[in-house]
Amino acid sequence: MPHPPVIDGFEFARCNSRLAGSRRGDSLPRLRECLYAPDGTVDFEIEGVPEMQGRPALRLQVSAKLALQCQRCLGRVDVELSSKAVLLLYDDEAELAAHRVEVEGPEHVLAGREMQVLDLVEDEVLLAIPQAPRHGQCRTHDGDARGAPQRPFAGLRALMGGKR
Ligand SMILES: [Zn+2]
Repeated sequence: MPHPPVIDGFEFARCNSRLAGSRRGDSLPRLRECLYAPDGTVDFEIEGVPEMQGRPALRLQVSAKLALQCQRCLGRVDVELSSKAVLLLYDDEAELAAHRVEVEGPEHVLAGREMQVLDLVEDEVLLAIPQAPRHGQCRTHDGDARGAPQRPFAGLRALMGGKR
């Protein structure tokens, strides 16, 4: 798709609009940095809500299948994730600033006439991505290196001529 979707936030919310799509994981530049392999997809759906907690809002849902790097064995681990967010829209920087400190609950964003949907999608995926992805059970060469401390000299004996 040549043109990324752009929405007018308030208009989109007022009209109860809906937009759904799918992208390759590596088409999102910040996400690409986290990927072990470029295959994988991100599906998204964004829906306008005329009023939520007194504000126009966007409801965003993402689901993704991505190849990440296992932090234990450094191999590829396929991860599926899904996440939902509610974005309350503001057109005033000062008003928005008063709400930014909240951690729980809906997010508060400055809405514009040209909001990049894929930026919102990418933000959501990055938040949902596990910080330290791991296999449930890593495939290892010697059978039981799972969680074992690293042995930096393990290969040294072999290098030195295989003394037994
Ligand atoms: Zn692993």
